[in-house]
Amino acid sequence: MRKNIVAGNWKMNKNFAEAEALMMQLLEYKKNNATHCEVYIAPPSIYLTTAKQIFANQEIGIFGQDMSEHNSGAYTGEISVGMYQSIGVDGSIIAHSERRLYHGETDSHANRKVKALLDAGLTPIYCNGETLEQRKNNQHFEVIKNQTQVALFTLSAEEIKKVVIAYEPVWAIGTGETATPEQAQEMHAFIRNLIAEQYGQETANEVSILYGGSVKPENAKEIFSKPDVDGGLIGGAALKIEDFSKIIEDFNA
Ligand code: PEP
Repeated sequence: MRKNIVAGNWKMNKNFAEAEALMMQLLEYKKNNATHCEVYIAPPSIYLTTAKQIFANQEIGIFGQDMSEHNSGAYTGEISVGMYQSIGVDGSIIAHSERRLYHGETDSHANRKVKALLDAGLTPIYCNGETLEQRKNNQHFEVIKNQTQVALFTLSAEEIKKVVIAYEPVWAIGTGETATPEQAQEMHAFIRNLIAEQYGQETANEVSILYGGSVKPENAKEIFSKPDVDGGLIGGAALKIEDFSKIIEDFNA
């Protein structure tokens, strides 16, 4: 059965001392509380080794925020899947809307990165989502369909089961604006149906689909209660232990 997941995307926030302090708080929380979902964090890559050390044996998934589609070589500034693998990182976020917007990331890039992660036995958290303009023009289903097909539909059924999808409407990321639980459910069901049409319902039922976009302690519970929402990818609210832990607790509470 598919997993329920709360994943924190720290983006480009916190100096080392602050990052270490937040990890220690999360460690303390995890030691003292039974959680009803998997908990992942994606700190800046420079802190991943520290995260692996701090969370050794604590069942917190440690993720990168992006990676190169290449294995090694003259790609200044990039990180390869083999590097993640060599320090025990569990996977990476791929095609976050900020990578798409500021770094020209496309779904073809995402497709190669997702495949590289799966080939290495790591977990991709593949992000898709429409812009406000696309939603206003009623193009959102078409946009998500194209993104999902290009990025994922070259995978085998066994491979796609291992992908975590994060539906993140661009208009809801970091804006304080959240999709309503009904809007999230509608799109998650649409994505699951796309997968079912391509791979069969049984495979589609195995894929975890997270919602991302201004999830906070105040709205998480209702969003997570929807049948096709399997958790959240959390940005701003993952930066404070009070908020992040409340969101974790909202799951199945
Ligand atoms: C994100 O960056 O993936 C995200 C959902 O950010 P926020 O929760 O801050 O909107």
